[in-house]
Amino acid sequence: MLQGPLPISLTTQVQIDSPGAYILSRDGKAAHYVGRSDSDIGSRVTQSAREGRYTHFWYSYASSPREAYQKECEYFHKYGPTDNAIHPAAPRGTNWRCPIQGCRWS
Ligand SMILES: [Zn+2]
Repeated sequence: MLQGPLPISLTTQVQIDSPGAYILSRDGKAAHYVGRSDSDIGSRVTQSAREGRYTHFWYSYASSPREAYQKECEYFHKYGPTDNAIHPAAPRGTNWRCPIQGCRWS
């Protein structure tokens, strides 16, 4: 379940040490960037917030790195974020595939 949108200043509320996926936005409405962390979504979102390009975010915890990847793919396909130049990549050393049926990138 996605939590948000939250102002990017509240990224400290995101628990660290958990895999997860997140969405960043410049207006609190559209999804402009989708990302994930395999181990620490809190730090990743906080780091993105410091870069200052976004105003809001959504996040969702995952029970494993694989689930984080699957959620990232799901959001990528669902929202078509303009700041993602390429389809999410599976972690190095895995053979995970995008869970979206008919995905032309996997
Ligand atoms: Zn895909």
